[in-house]
Amino acid sequence: KIRTRFAPSPTGYMHIGNLRTALYCYLIAKKEKGDFILRIEDTDQKREVAGAFELILQILDETGLHYDEGPEHGHYGPYIQSQRLDIYHHYAQELIKLGGAHYCFCLNDIEDHDPCLDLSPDDIQQKIQNGEPYVIRQTIPQTGITSFDDEVYGHIEVENKTLNEGILIKSDGFPTYNFANVIDDHLMHITHVVRGNEYLSSTPKYNLIYQAFDWEIPTYIHLPTVNKDETHKLSKRDGDASYLDLKKQGFLPQAIINYIALLGWSPESNEILSLEELIQQFDVHHISKAPAIFDLEKLKWMNGMYLRQMPLSQFHQLLQPHYHFISQPVDDLEISRILQPRLLQIQDDIIQELLDFINQPLPFDITIYTHKKFKTNPEKSLHALTLVEKHFHEIKDFQNDDHILTFFRELARENGLKNGQIMEPVRAALTNKRSSAGGAVELIHIFGKEEALQRIETAIQ
Ligand code: GLU
Repeated sequence: KIRTRFAPSPTGYMHIGNLRTALYCYLIAKKEKGDFILRIEDTDQKREVAGAFELILQILDETGLHYDEGPEHGHYGPYIQSQRLDIYHHYAQELIKLGGAHYCFCLNDIEDHDPCLDLSPDDIQQKIQNGEPYVIRQTIPQTGITSFDDEVYGHIEVENKTLNEGILIKSDGFPTYNFANVIDDHLMHITHVVRGNEYLSSTPKYNLIYQAFDWEIPTYIHLPTVNKDETHKLSKRDGDASYLDLKKQGFLPQAIINYIALLGWSPESNEILSLEELIQQFDVHHISKAPAIFDLEKLKWMNGMYLRQMPLSQFHQLLQPHYHFISQPVDDLEISRILQPRLLQIQDDIIQELLDFINQPLPFDITIYTHKKFKTNPEKSLHALTLVEKHFHEIKDFQNDDHILTFFRELARENGLKNGQIMEPVRAALTNKRSSAGGAVELIHIFGKEEALQRIETAIQ
């Protein structure tokens, strides 16, 4: 049975690249009816942030990436690394016995040969008794080659002597990622390690640890970086690198998930895919090695697709809280109806820009009456508006778009005008804008009889 794990550090920040790792872990497990596991990697106490743990749970929940095992349940816990210190200490001692690690009293990075390798067991004992701080460092064979096959990057081979003897247990007693990931992945029976390619070059060192313990090495799937262009990684500074940044910009969780699935993988056909469809179609062998480029315009397009696909009532429910700036009594379901085909992001600024005509019809701008396509000018427009004003009461039902449209058509026909020569001036009069979301019919529906008539009268005076 396939078992994958998402292993975020609680930094309070879910980078798009991290969320993509979570998604791919999930898809790879679920495609084979396997298990998706959440492990919290909080061994770097300096980076701890309050609320970060809850944020991880919230994001996985919102995006539908439900885990089978994690901090609250599962057979191989605890799933929070800071609660596993005894386990790491135990295995560090074992590894020392096996010759894969050693005590070291040089606390910082070392170059080439670690002088502590030459200490006798008695020297070491003595120093520890004297209270000298120490780390436990990996012992790397100075000969031989370590190789493995990554599912994405292919065959990787390194000479052992080029690998540095990194710290496994720090002087504060906490393990480093380099040690904890191996111990946990083994004890939690992880079959497929899916993570960012920044870990690719350290993987041979992890394999040496697996080998020293005589443990089975997992399948590795390293993922390409997420860049903002050819050469730069998407970084926190860009302001749209995290899940929360994107949510703030008005993107839907499903659209975000759908979009980030495409960062490094491409489906055979249609790109709009639900989580269920992603599970069906995802294929590890189609993950690309090349950096994925984060394209905000494409995400906007995709979000627009999701917004248009939902039932109007659902769209309206999402949008209603954003209509607080509207000071006119208007039919706000109608507002949602004209917004739905046009909106790409649920963001106050954008919504207000599309709808600002509702609040401010004055002062009136006569130049908006010149429209090339409809061959209108201020004079003809005023004439058309006067006709509309005079016959406005003939509209039978102001809630009925067909009635309103019929009214305009008949009025145009009777007066020898084109529909546009009446409807465009009305649209302009109702919005005081050269272009707007919604045409004459929809706008009359939104404003209702009184407000619409009042705006038309204002325009004529
Ligand atoms: N805690 C590591 C990180 O957040 C996880 C790497 C891994 O998936 O193994 O980068």
